[in-house]
Amino acid sequence: MRCPVCRNMIISTDGNKQKLRSRIIIFSHHKAMAKCQTCKTDVEVPIRFNRSYELTNNNILRAS
Ligand SMILES: [Zn+2]
Repeated sequence: MRCPVCRNMIISTDGNKQKLRSRIIIFSHHKAMAKCQTCKTDVEVPIRFNRSYELTNNNILRAS
């Protein structure tokens, strides 16, 4: 998967492994965006964020 702007590799595939070549991922609503390391464009990537961490945190806040 490549950046639509500069064609830099965002997700590379090696056999059955996939490597995300971005250090910054932004999760908003149901979308995940990885920042291209070359041109800094936010590129939508097929990654799901597990929201159970957030739910667990809310439960702790409510209990205290
Ligand atoms: Zn780019």
